[in-house]
Amino acid sequence: MNFRQQTLAPALYLVATPIGSARDITLRALDVLASADVLAAEDTRNLRKLMEIHGIPLEGRRVLPYHDHNGSEMRPKLIEHVRSGRSVAYASDAGTPLIADPGYHLASEMRAAGLAVTTAPGPSAVITALSLSALPTDQFHFAGFLPNAKAARQSALMGLRDLSATLILYEAPGRVEDLLTDICEVYGGERPVSLCRELTKRFEEVRHGRAEDVLDSVRATPPKGECVVLIGRAETTEVTDDMIRAALQTALETMRIKDAATAVSGSLSVPRRQVYQIALDMKSDG
Ligand code: SAM
Repeated sequence: MNFRQQTLAPALYLVATPIGSARDITLRALDVLASADVLAAEDTRNLRKLMEIHGIPLEGRRVLPYHDHNGSEMRPKLIEHVRSGRSVAYASDAGTPLIADPGYHLASEMRAAGLAVTTAPGPSAVITALSLSALPTDQFHFAGFLPNAKAARQSALMGLRDLSATLILYEAPGRVEDLLTDICEVYGGERPVSLCRELTKRFEEVRHGRAEDVLDSVRATPPKGECVVLIGRAETTEVTDDMIRAALQTALETMRIKDAATAVSGSLSVPRRQVYQIALDMKSDG
């Protein structure tokens, strides 16, 4: 027996469940599922199946549904259970509740009612993908699912362009090609990208490389199953005065000094004042 039955303090317990391999559940999550007075799940069949795999008896407990479509109706009932001194364990479909999954309003309203919220933490696709992505892990930004419409998706990407962090997106397999196309258009095909698919499952795969190359591979072999797309931060190469002088040299062959300063400042993303001063120095040096 891999779990311990115990008396839990009254609270909402956010229980993380596996994103693939059923054995990725933690022992503590099993304890909470075995011991909670009330069980709630985004998909009640999934939770019952997971409990069955790990030999956790329901012992007469029903699994209450809690999802995006019945949240406002179910929240007062779950809050009342905790208020009456019961422990409520909530699991979303897979991974960590609240992470691109229901549970945020439930936890907020529970807290607003003065009741305790705690967790049995565990797997989440965002961290699993980041750790496998081959991209920098020191800073990351999780933006969930971007909008489906191209214009809205591109403007969301624009808004995230200057992040100095690895950007992590969830995406449905059928839309990965469109997303990568937009990444190439908005960030350029050179950006490092990782496509992490079917993590912890039999066909787990990581495709890593330049955005353009990953897009080509997706066109050649469309991904199936669950996908996370990660984008490396833009390379910030320091622009030296010599680089500015070289660019100005070319620009000044066809432009007046002010126009050349504007053009070079735009192409190298450096302040125009700095470029203009270097151009003036070049002129006075002949
Ligand atoms: N709450 C979950 C978590 O903590 O990761 C995420 C739920 S969200 C509705 C489902 C999305 O997570 C999928 O569309 C996919 O982008 C990602 N995902 C979940 N499991 C995955 C897996 N095994 N491999 C890759 N991506 C996965």
